[in-house]
Amino acid sequence: MSLRTHRCAAQREARATGLRATGLRASELPACFPLTFPPAHRLLHALTRALLPEGRCRLCALPSRAPLCSACQCAYGLPGLRRCPRCASLLPDAAARCGACALHPPAHVRAMAWGDYVPPLDRLIASVKFGGDAALARWLGGLLAQRLPPAWSPLPHPPPLVVPVPLSMQRLRQRGYNQAWEIARGLAAALQWPCDCQRLLRVRDGPAQSSLPLARRAANLRGAFVAHALPRACTVLLVDDVMTSGSTAEHACRALLRGGAREVAVAVVLRTPAPR
Ligand SMILES: [Zn+2]
Ligand SMILES: [Zn+2]
Repeated sequence: MSLRTHRCAAQREARATGLRATGLRASELPACFPLTFPPAHRLLHALTRALLPEGRCRLCALPSRAPLCSACQCAYGLPGLRRCPRCASLLPDAAARCGACALHPPAHVRAMAWGDYVPPLDRLIASVKFGGDAALARWLGGLLAQRLPPAWSPLPHPPPLVVPVPLSMQRLRQRGYNQAWEIARGLAAALQWPCDCQRLLRVRDGPAQSSLPLARRAANLRGAFVAHALPRACTVLLVDDVMTSGSTAEHACRALLRGGAREVAVAVVLRTPAPR
């Protein structure tokens, strides 16, 4: 079987799997489900690249071969600071975990983040979320991968299945692609772990989480996720761009556990700091 034939067969299988799990008709799926780039996103991305020449750090604009120069990686990645192992919030003291996780432990066993969702790092998320910059999203996945071996010790064996937080079909059509999937691909490629965007699906949509007050975010996600056809008793690494209230990770994690996962860990590029 040629590579092209194999890829076409894999795409047909992915579409069929998505259809079975979502209950949608084939006509309701984007043409290249699960990954599409509508012309508007491609144009916006091209304009962004034209305004910001290659070889410049996205944050400080100094010459850099990577999207972030090494100085900005150190300054904003906060590699020396400790994070809560359950929710990835920065720990202000020598506590083993944060007060919120001590009171209400999340369903996932571990959470890891590369940095905090604060200016100017929030610009990176805007680029991958609304600018269609899939290459930056994959690079951020590789950056996040560097954090995992020290933060997740010992690493599970066999390696975890990397699963992105899914978008609903409606949101996927609007946005054109799922930035969490691109981040997950970059992370999985860097660590040579298996990655699959078809095992967790979003079957019910509501308002965007970011548009809701924290108190309403959990209710907005009830029954939103379904996991299916997971490898028996596997460990799953759930990947997203940002974690704020933790509601999305919590509901996706519960769906993965209902679907047969043995345990779930979470990795996000940026973590919204806890309110003080
Ligand atoms: Zn820089
Ligand atoms: Zn915590």
